[in-house]
Amino acid sequence: MPYAYDDQNVFAKILRGEIPNRTVLETEHSLAFEDIAPQAPVHVLVIPKGKYVNYDHFAAEASDAEIVDYTRAIDAVARKVGVTPGAGDGGYRLISNAGEAGVQEVPHLHVHILGGRMLGRMLQRA
Ligand code: AMP
Repeated sequence: MPYAYDDQNVFAKILRGEIPNRTVLETEHSLAFEDIAPQAPVHVLVIPKGKYVNYDHFAAEASDAEIVDYTRAIDAVARKVGVTPGAGDGGYRLISNAGEAGVQEVPHLHVHILGGRMLGRMLQRA
């Protein structure tokens, strides 16, 4: 299935430096920055620098180097902001919304790292 990447999405603009961000971590292939509308004391978004719409696009087409970098960047961010299990208020939730049912708003792959408080159950009943 072809993946249509929209170059005008807000994270593409952040990667091009067209709009500011509060960077938490940057690696060769990944960027992490604070969510503009945080839903927990810790709410960081981690994105690959490559043009990937969502997780299935990334898994299908990213290079091994990009996948390793991204996977490790997510862990590095969790450690850096102090939510890794066993550290202080340790524990976090990773969320990556995809597509319509997943209610993905920005069509560039991102993982939300949420923590800093008890997060409760994963989903509310609709
Ligand atoms: P999602 O629904 O998973 O696509 O989430 C998109 C997230 O991007 C939301 O949590 C927004 O608050 C966040 N967001 C949108 N614009 C920006 C921005 N300019 N800087 C940081 N986070 C943003």
